[in-house]
Amino acid sequence: MSDHRQAIRWLPQFGSTLRIAAEMKKRNLRKLNSAETTPLGAAWLRAFRRRLLNWYTRHARDLPWRRSRDVYRVWVSEIMLQQAYFKRFVATLPTIADLAAADEQEVLRLWEGLGYYRRARQLHRAAREIVERHDGQFPRDIDSVRSLPGIGRYTAGAILSIAFDQRAPILEANTIRLFARLLGYRDDPKTTAGQRVLWDAAVRLLPRSNAGRFNQALMEVGSLVCTPKVPDCEACPVAMLCTARADGAQANIPLPKPRQRLEAVREACVVVRRRGRVLVRRRTPDERWAGLWDFPRFEIDAANGIALRRMLTSAVANIAGVQIQPGPRLATIKHGVTRFRITLECFEAEYVDAVSGGQNGDMKWLRPAELSDYPLSTTGRKIADLLVS
Ligand code: SF4
Repeated sequence: MSDHRQAIRWLPQFGSTLRIAAEMKKRNLRKLNSAETTPLGAAWLRAFRRRLLNWYTRHARDLPWRRSRDVYRVWVSEIMLQQAYFKRFVATLPTIADLAAADEQEVLRLWEGLGYYRRARQLHRAAREIVERHDGQFPRDIDSVRSLPGIGRYTAGAILSIAFDQRAPILEANTIRLFARLLGYRDDPKTTAGQRVLWDAAVRLLPRSNAGRFNQALMEVGSLVCTPKVPDCEACPVAMLCTARADGAQANIPLPKPRQRLEAVREACVVVRRRGRVLVRRRTPDERWAGLWDFPRFEIDAANGIALRRMLTSAVANIAGVQIQPGPRLATIKHGVTRFRITLECFEAEYVDAVSGGQNGDMKWLRPAELSDYPLSTTGRKIADLLVS
């Protein structure tokens, strides 16, 4: 079966087509001929592109990365997607060469609080590859772009279309939802079959020119109008062309994700003090938050009292190679990491002596004020702030 036929074989063409036509009539809009109400048909595509781009002209948000088509800024924005962080990042590291020359610690410090630290490390590695293999120029061919660390099909499409106006499709969370609803795709869009259908739609939707503007318009409608829980169909520029709306199926498309089972975890974090300094270690590449600095942190069971003190002492000896005298509890912080609901109990402790073995990774004794120069996790920063307040 051809890709095209695979893509449309599940479309509830006739019922939806009639309903879309009836809706058009009810709203007294210019009559569409039947071809225009067939999703992904030539006339439907023309109407879709026109409506979408007209809407974007009036409603596009003024986002900092939209003020230029500089490929570096487009790239960073696609990885980062946070206005405040983006501004600070590109102000500090304004070019690919600056990013490549930066220390990983500086990159992680600029990224701190955003999460997904792997993305920051990959962005940094990719900048170095661009300098080494592409003379510092961001490549323009899709294969070279996709071979860079941290750049998949979506990010490559977004960068090449937005920065260079190449006719490259995109598919990310907002457009997955938008396309699934437009086409009435009721199966799971995350499966291989679902991805094939939606990528095929992304390719066919693209106009011959202005691909960057068009892709941004798709993402904008997806994030501002066709929202996950309550899409604003009344304000939607392509409502007349939408199968889910015609079928009243917006709430069921895309297929809701199965609920994730949350798991409660208890962790401890120990601030070991020694002559006005505190002990931090750099998290290793196989750990969560690799590359960030942290106080010795580990999972604890239900122990309390003496059993808990013993556990703190032995864990810190293993992780950091120091013997401690556990002190009072400094704070309890609740936070989430993926499906884990973590209760983090933070303790103070005094350094007693070094123990042999157990030391794992880089260690530093820092004055609390010096912690501001080091990238920490969000909870690590909260603890660091308590130490200087
Ligand atoms: Fe999404 Fe509603 Fe627009 Fe359809 S009509 S694309 S469901 S906002």
